[in-house]
Amino acid sequence: MLAFQLYQLQQVDSERDALEKRVAELEALLADRRALLSAEEGAQKAKAAYRAAQRALQEAEAKAQGLRDKLSRTENTLYGGSVTNPRELQALQAEVEMLKRHLEAAEDAQLEAMLALEEAEKALNAAEEHLKAVKTERNTQEARWRGEIASLQEKIERLGKRRQAIVGAIPAEALSLYEKLRSKRGGQAVALVSDGACDACGAPLPPPVLQAARSSESIAFCPTCGRILCIL
Ligand SMILES: [Zn+2]
Repeated sequence: MLAFQLYQLQQVDSERDALEKRVAELEALLADRRALLSAEEGAQKAKAAYRAAQRALQEAEAKAQGLRDKLSRTENTLYGGSVTNPRELQALQAEVEMLKRHLEAAEDAQLEAMLALEEAEKALNAAEEHLKAVKTERNTQEARWRGEIASLQEKIERLGKRRQAIVGAIPAEALSLYEKLRSKRGGQAVALVSDGACDACGAPLPPPVLQAARSSESIAFCPTCGRILCIL
């Protein structure tokens, strides 16, 4: 019976459509690497910030050391006995006081830079841990997705063979009608009749249509949605 053959074909096609939709979803997931890229970017930024904090600390250390050296030289001159002029001694004393204030400020800045470096190191460790976790999760997911795609493709291939066998027994004219209806009706060309109504659109079917649908000679169509009717 032709309607039933078309119904079988419809079942195979619907199943294949669903599997292909799932394959497309999985391929989109595989192609979407945003979470990974964002974690990589986060780790790179944290590393750059850590290096900048290292440089800032080195600079602060160098500055404090420079002031310490200059202070020690100035104090040596002040207390060394080579300078005896009271006005020069007063100037040296003033310079020592100034250098001590600058050194204190520079040592405060050095401490700040050390604390900032510690924070940057913590942030770097956190960003690298996060990246590692994202990569591990991604690898697990990718393996699962690829596995699922492979098994879906196997099923699709089996359905393709079944489809060929079904199609081989359907006249070309009916097949082309089926394909046209399928593309116009959201992938569903054949509707089952249940309780005297079209299962696809829900419209009740007039008795002559039901009569025609029961006959194995011809194909009957739902007067409302135009689909091929099949009574199981
Ligand atoms: Zn209908």
